[in-house]
Amino acid sequence: MPSTPIDLQFMSRPGLIGAWRTADAIVDPGPASTLPTLLRRLDGWRPRAIALTHIHFDHAGAVGALVRRWPGVEVIVHAAGARHLADPARLWESAKRVFGDELELRFGTMLPVPAQNIRALDGGERAAGLRTAATPGHAKHHLAYLDEDSGRAYVGDVCGVRLGAGPVLPPTPPPDVDLALWRRSLELIAAWGPSELALTHFGAVANPGPHLEEVAAALAEHDRLRRGGEQRYVRDARRLLARTCTPQQVADYELTVPLDQNQRGLQMAHERRRARDATETG
Ligand SMILES: [Zn+2]
Repeated sequence: MPSTPIDLQFMSRPGLIGAWRTADAIVDPGPASTLPTLLRRLDGWRPRAIALTHIHFDHAGAVGALVRRWPGVEVIVHAAGARHLADPARLWESAKRVFGDELELRFGTMLPVPAQNIRALDGGERAAGLRTAATPGHAKHHLAYLDEDSGRAYVGDVCGVRLGAGPVLPPTPPPDVDLALWRRSLELIAAWGPSELALTHFGAVANPGPHLEEVAAALAEHDRLRRGGEQRYVRDARRLLARTCTPQQVADYELTVPLDQNQRGLQMAHERRRARDATETG
């Protein structure tokens, strides 16, 4: 039987954001807006640690509120994201520019995490009984975790978004997207030889090899669509999804991965790449 995460019922929809439970930890507790669902489903269970793949609100928004509830809990995060957990104001400001008034409705409010709860890693360490690795590409500060007993890899957003039996959609929001680093992270996860990929969006992938290839191919395809500009990208990406998805499924994908942001993140990555190439050849 494939394993399933706790379905946080994000925006009252099933199968969009899942929080995973290991023997000792919760991997990505999700946004603050779905905290009541998470607590109800944990039914009094207290983890020793909260392991974050990265600090975006849909993965980590609830962490500050959970630390208030569980004062001794250890919060595992990549070193480059630790500062924003202790002081989420800047993170909040930049998300506010993107989501406007919808920000709170979607994600709730992110509370700061006291410094003494934070365990900042570079990747490569062991934490909460899991092996860790830095897996940049989607975000600079992205970590993946491997449970060596079960072979399950908790991969956050670096292995893309796949809802139901739909296609892989890579989430590529500003500002950190780096396609070369992303591909390397996919290779690293493949080299782990996991038995299963645990996606946040959404659920377990029982056959990691073909999925990882699909992520790499989808990144290339979406970067190609990116060149048409934002409006056209949104239209093309939507059309790509609609080939195999119902309108409701397409809407679910868009609730999870805002497509205009996807184009902007890919464009930013493209411009950074171009500037770098110009310095190298100039
Ligand atoms: Zn996400």
